[in-house]
Amino acid sequence: MSVTPVTEPTDQPTTDPATTDAAPTDSYAPTPRTVPTRSKERARYDRETVHSILDQAYVCHLGFVRDGAPVVLPTLFGRVGERLYLHGSTGSRPLLAAGTSDPGLPVCVTVTHVDGLVLARSAFHHSINYRSVVVHGTAYQVTDEEERRMALDALVDHVVPGRSADSRPANTRELAATAVIRLDLDEVSAKLRTGGPNDDAEDLDLPFWSGVVPVAPAYGAPVPAADLAPGIAVPDYLATL
Ligand SMILES: Cc1cc2nc3c(=O)[nH]c(=O)nc-3n(C[C@H](O)[C@H](O)[C@H](O)COP(=O)(O)OP(=O)(O)OC[C@H]3O[C@@H](n4cnc5c(N)ncnc54)[C@H](O)[C@@H]3O)c2cc1C
Repeated sequence: MSVTPVTEPTDQPTTDPATTDAAPTDSYAPTPRTVPTRSKERARYDRETVHSILDQAYVCHLGFVRDGAPVVLPTLFGRVGERLYLHGSTGSRPLLAAGTSDPGLPVCVTVTHVDGLVLARSAFHHSINYRSVVVHGTAYQVTDEEERRMALDALVDHVVPGRSADSRPANTRELAATAVIRLDLDEVSAKLRTGGPNDDAEDLDLPFWSGVVPVAPAYGAPVPAADLAPGIAVPDYLATL
């Protein structure tokens, strides 16, 4: 089977978001490290777009440097306002590093949605429709007990809204075994690709199917735990996922 290269199509020159006037308050101010070199017109900095991309994702990728080399780990997260929370075992190395580094652990968190497979006539112009967010910043360990509990609720509610109120809260032992880090949403960019293939004009008559295959997440019917006590119905909030 041949592997088709997925490329970013050539883009028209556009306004550089980093050089426009001061960003409105409903946007993150672009910084030199949040402006893409390529396809700048696909970048977005408005909080509404960024929040919606974050809130629709289950998984983020946490990138940091360990012993001089980059490491990227997939993990759950939650958002509360302009702050992301990540959690894990107190033995988790990035979480440990965020607690022992001074001042905090420099990180890059990314979130990605694949919305469509873009099939062009030419292999070169194959692409992906996507929405993604990149967050640069410094992660700090959360030590305040109230904030830790709130963050853990946010993590659960991020997966299934309303679920934290419908489950047993963490007890003292579980809280002691869990580390939480926070990352402020400050240096943030989103990037979106939409639309069809950008084939070259001389390829338009080639006899290859061209277009987009939409990709969307789907939920199956809830499967009760094998040891679920009888008489507990599927909660209504699962019906709205
Ligand atoms: C699912 C998916 C598949 C992709 N496949 C390809 C591919 O095959 N080839 C390819 O060249 N590109 C691909 N991209 C786009 C890729 O993420 C980069 O945007 C692209 O490589 C351009 O890099 P750059 O040199 O402009 O980035 P840089 O100049 O290094 O980026 C500077 C800053 O711009 C922001 N930025 C850059 N890219 C993104 C992004 N995707 N989302 C949010 N902020 C961003 C970040 O803040 C980053 O630090 C894909 C993106 C997604 C989401």
